[in-house]
Amino acid sequence: MFAYISEIFNSLQGEGLYLGVRQVFVRFQRCQLHCAYCDTPDSRSITESCRIERTAGKGDFKPGKNPVDTKELEKAIANLWTSSTKHVSLTGGEPLIHADSIHSLTLEYPLYLETNSGFPDQASKIKDMISVASCDIKLPEHEPTDHYNELLKNELETIAILKENSETFAKIVVLPVTTQQSISPAVEGLASIDRDIPLILQPVTQKEHVSPDLLFDLMDFAGEKLKDVRVIPQTHKMMGWL
Ligand code: SF4
Repeated sequence: MFAYISEIFNSLQGEGLYLGVRQVFVRFQRCQLHCAYCDTPDSRSITESCRIERTAGKGDFKPGKNPVDTKELEKAIANLWTSSTKHVSLTGGEPLIHADSIHSLTLEYPLYLETNSGFPDQASKIKDMISVASCDIKLPEHEPTDHYNELLKNELETIAILKENSETFAKIVVLPVTTQQSISPAVEGLASIDRDIPLILQPVTQKEHVSPDLLFDLMDFAGEKLKDVRVIPQTHKMMGWL
């Protein structure tokens, strides 16, 4: 047995520093949070079935059964790897819930972790396997949990752990109501780990747009503490990619 998975497919990374890079995505099921803007709500709970793309990038899915076993997963990844593919993206849901299963993998491909950063102990188990870590930091207005301060502490600890061996960047989803005050603890926390950690401000993909004025204001605020602050929207939604 490997883990409960929602889908496996080949597409382009639509967020963050590796925007446009081709990856095989392994979308794990289960998540401990309940963010108001969640764009993968179906992956937060477990189901008996999953879907596995037959041909890289074609969207020609076949049904699979959960939990997927390790051999089947490794076979599906190998089948979806192409000459321009650079990473296996471990995404979700929350992949760190499945750290023990990930640790059992014997893949020769670079691993790209997309995490909500809520599990430092789990991150420690696989930190030596991860090439690139994309680490979310949640804000109170995301309504991710009833224990926000504990989550933020865990997120910063996870980032510090992953940064030891992986190229690591942080990502904050910006809502129209986000303020300097609400991002301040995250920015201060990141700066206390390392001012060189890139911070991506990602305007939420919703009907109600985040204004350029707010983004510039938050950029300058974060830029006082961190050396590399960028605004990068979610492009896979814009482009209709998976
Ligand atoms: S951490 Fe990700 S998967 Fe979990 S609720 Fe938030 S947005 Fe959804």
